[in-house]
Amino acid sequence: MIVLLSTYELGRPPFGLASAAAWLRAAGLEVRTVDLSRDPMPPAVVAQARVFALHVPMHAATRLAGPVLVMLRDARPEALRVAFGLYGPMNEAWLRHQGASHVLGVEAEAQLVALASGQRVDAPLPRGTQVPRLAFRVPDRSTLPPLDRYARLTIEGEQRLAGYTEASRGCLHTCAHCPIVPVYGGALRVVPVDVVMADVDQQVAAGARHITFGDPDFLNGPTHARRLLEALSARHPDVTYDVTIKVEHLLRHPDLLDLLAATRCAFVTSAVEAFDDDILRRLRKGHTADDARRAIAACRDRGLALVPTFVAFTPWTTLDGYLALLDALVANDLVGVVAPVQLALRLLLPAGSALLADPVVARVAGAFDRDALAHPWTHDDPVVDRLQADMMAWLGRQGRRASAALAYEELRRLAEVAAGRSRDTCAPADAWVRATVPYLDEPWYC
Ligand code: SF4
Repeated sequence: MIVLLSTYELGRPPFGLASAAAWLRAAGLEVRTVDLSRDPMPPAVVAQARVFALHVPMHAATRLAGPVLVMLRDARPEALRVAFGLYGPMNEAWLRHQGASHVLGVEAEAQLVALASGQRVDAPLPRGTQVPRLAFRVPDRSTLPPLDRYARLTIEGEQRLAGYTEASRGCLHTCAHCPIVPVYGGALRVVPVDVVMADVDQQVAAGARHITFGDPDFLNGPTHARRLLEALSARHPDVTYDVTIKVEHLLRHPDLLDLLAATRCAFVTSAVEAFDDDILRRLRKGHTADDARRAIAACRDRGLALVPTFVAFTPWTTLDGYLALLDALVANDLVGVVAPVQLALRLLLPAGSALLADPVVARVAGAFDRDALAHPWTHDDPVVDRLQADMMAWLGRQGRRASAALAYEELRRLAEVAAGRSRDTCAPADAWVRATVPYLDEPWYC
């Protein structure tokens, strides 16, 4: 028996397990899936499996995989213990130290089949090697927990069961802080429309009334995106969906924004990251602060809800710059739509981050921390680091109680105190609570 394990996928049904399960079962192998974010590990599974494969698609999932690998190494030293996914190659040494016998990268389904069939697999692929081109299969979700155990969409007072699929993998762009870039190196792999739609169909049949397209950028392939949206709205006209689109693409494809607005797009997530041109240039985002404002307006003009994400604290962030970010949220009517944690997130420097070549980052970043799976860094101004820590502590105490407006108010107060500003220089709180948009009810931390 082969056991596919997921530790964390943002409260979504674990796509990585469903895709791997389809490949392994097609090869005639017996597969069990366990989503450890929803269920404990069954002891019988630990005792019986001959291959354990943990999916590590993001930072939090990789850290959570560590103790699982240790447990499996101690309990089943003779079994194969495979880590696979985006965070595999960059954390290979640590994953092996935790107990992984094999580490695979992305597009690993065929390699998993080979390993589970007893073949030798040398992996992960060295840096700069082209990622494999797979003939994608429809994910097999037959043994995943039901959709009602995952994050739901709240929209207009209604809760909808949410499915998740991917219409492409990788990304054509090379933003400096993005973990996809060192692995895919600007490559894009497009999943055929019939495969994506078959996956959507099976999730709708299982009760989904909303689909998240988890592509790193949905408009990397604009023609592909158009075909998919037309197929989705023809086949499931009542099913809502959400997508992630970069600012540059929101501006470049007004016709597709029209299509998003005309179909059941509940919201578009976009990595605005900052309203500071120097920071955006260092991140190689390919957009300016003014581009972001125009993209926000382009969505608003069409009635399309935009959910921006930010990297609020970087080595280049100043206190005035942080307050300017808060001002920009008010000016663009975004306070009600930004998840509170977005306003306190700190730049993550994973192993091999291109940002380590930035002179400021190189000066403030420390050696790779194997426990944190990142390079720690300290801001030149200790007040900025203290502010970020105070904000995270406040958000931690609030848990899920903090509304976006309440969080904005308190985080703004903390920032103004840190900057030595007087409270009465800022806008009244009631000016900050405006738009609300549909949202998935599990906040995310990649
Ligand atoms: S556009 Fe998004 S997914 Fe693509 S490289 Fe930039 S941050 Fe990464």
